[in-house]
Amino acid sequence: MSGRAGFVYDRRLTEHVYRADHPLKPERLRDVHETLSRLGAFDRAGAALLAPREATRAEIERIHAPDYVKAVRQASADPDLGFERWGLHPHGDTPPFAGMHEASLLTTGATLVAMEEVMRGALRVAVNYSGGLHHAMRARASGFCVYNDPAIVCGVLADRGMRVAYVDIDAHHGDGVQAAFYDTDQVLTISLHEDGRYLFPGTGFAHERGTGSGAGYSVNVALPPYTDDQAYVRAFDAVVPPLLERYRPDVLVTQQGIDPHFADPLTHLAISTLTREHCVSWFAATPHPWVAMGGGGYDLDAVRRTWSLEYLVMLGAPVPDELRDADPPVATGARRREIDAAVDVAIRGALGAAFA
Ligand SMILES: [Zn+2]
Repeated sequence: MSGRAGFVYDRRLTEHVYRADHPLKPERLRDVHETLSRLGAFDRAGAALLAPREATRAEIERIHAPDYVKAVRQASADPDLGFERWGLHPHGDTPPFAGMHEASLLTTGATLVAMEEVMRGALRVAVNYSGGLHHAMRARASGFCVYNDPAIVCGVLADRGMRVAYVDIDAHHGDGVQAAFYDTDQVLTISLHEDGRYLFPGTGFAHERGTGSGAGYSVNVALPPYTDDQAYVRAFDAVVPPLLERYRPDVLVTQQGIDPHFADPLTHLAISTLTREHCVSWFAATPHPWVAMGGGGYDLDAVRRTWSLEYLVMLGAPVPDELRDADPPVATGARRREIDAAVDVAIRGALGAAFA
C-alpha cells in the first residue's frame, strides 16, 4: 500500500557539525532533498514536506535522565568544560559541540512531527532522515547519538497504549532502543546488523532477548561481514514478516541507516539499493501506520541515492535507474558458502529466541 508520504526537512537539520573530521555529516540530507526536488518528488500527489519542531523536555526525559539532559545543555553552551562521564569525548565518537542540545532537540522533534502526522491519519508514512540516533543511552551519549529519537517515539507511542514494532536495518545494533524496552512486550525491537564481534557497539547477539515480560521481544539478527543482497534479503524475509504478523503491532517504527551499503567506509556489510528497495517496499505493503527515520550512512553518494529511492518507494512513485547501484557485489565460492552458513545461524538464533 502506498499513499501520502511525509518528508521532514529544514535546512537547520543539516547545519550542525560534530567536528570537521567527523564521519557523520548532517549536510548529507541536503543532497537527498536536492535530488528528490530535481526528480519532482515533492510535486507529486501524496508528497508532503513537513517542518520540524523542537522536542519538549518532557519528551526527551521519556527516555533520558534529567541529569544527562542538564549535562548536554551545559556541554552545548560550553563544550570545553569536560563531559566525558556522559559519553561526550572531544576526540571520541560523540564530541560535545556548541549548540548540540538545540540541534538534538530539533532532530528529535523532527521524528515526533513525523509520528504525529502519521498518528492523526494525515499520512500513510512520514520519514525523518535526520533522526534514527539509536545508540544514545538513558544517561550516556554514544556512537554519534545524543538523544535517542527512535526510543523517544516508541516510548511516546507505548504510553498511548499502542503495540509498537521497531525494525532497525542500520549496520549497527540498535542497542539504545533495545535497552529502553528490554523488559516490556509493548515494544518489539528487531535489529538486523553486522555481528557485534566485528563492529561497534559489540552487542546484538541472539541471546539478548529481553527480560521479564519483555523476554522474546528483543530480537537480534547478527549478520556476518560481507553479507550481500541475496543473503540480507533472505534474513529479512525469514525474520521480519513472520514476527510482525505474529506480533500484530498498532504502529511500525523503522530506522533505515544506510551504512550496510557496500560502499560504506565504516562497516563490512555489502548490500546495495536492491536490498533497500526490497525492505522498504515490504514496509510500505504492510497495513500499519509507519514512522521512519534515517541513521548511519557515511558514503555520501550511497546515502543520497538510497534515501531518495526509499522516499519514492514510500510515495509509490517510479524509481529512476540513476538512483540504483549499477553493479552490486555478489559473493562467490568459499565466501558465498561462509556467508550463507553464518546467515543460517543468525536466522535460527533470532527465531529461536523470539516470543512464541
Ligand atoms: Zn550505523
